[in-house]
Amino acid sequence: MMLECAKLDREINYFVDVVQQVTSEVATQQSEAMFGLSAKVREQFTERIARLSDAELHNHQKVAAFKESIKNSFNQANQGSADNLEELDEDIAVTQSQSNFTCPLTQVEMENPVKNKKCNHHYDEKAILGLIRTRHGQKKKCRCPVVGCGNTDVKESDLILDQMLRRKIQIQKRNSNRT
Ligand SMILES: [Zn+2]
Repeated sequence: MMLECAKLDREINYFVDVVQQVTSEVATQQSEAMFGLSAKVREQFTERIARLSDAELHNHQKVAAFKESIKNSFNQANQGSADNLEELDEDIAVTQSQSNFTCPLTQVEMENPVKNKKCNHHYDEKAILGLIRTRHGQKKKCRCPVVGCGNTDVKESDLILDQMLRRKIQIQKRNSNRT
């Protein structure tokens, strides 16, 4: 589309050019020459257009400017996504230092992290449910396995699946697999 536009633009410029040239020639000639004016313009114009190649169009200033602007917006878009990734990485780094991705029970990275809404500690869902059931099976209360936590009665109903943390763990896993 830009090439078509550039082609039209170029043709209009040539046409104006030819018209000016022919009329200035005619002005110095006899009045009879006026009658052949449009034919002469058409003839010279056709001749000039025929000499042009489409390859030159790619260097037309409008096409060049258009290409440049596309390139710039691509670069900006790429720059933007790189920034987002960095922010995400920083986000993860902060979370990691605050609460580890490791389950206090299994000592491995949590797959389905659940948050205890009473003491805000995280555990892997399977591990904590296993512990609660074992303890309850022994007719005992389940103490929060996090060292120093005062929550002595962890119940299944206190646990909420932490989708956000789950997502962060997955992203981190994907990032470390990539490198
Ligand atoms: Zn706790």
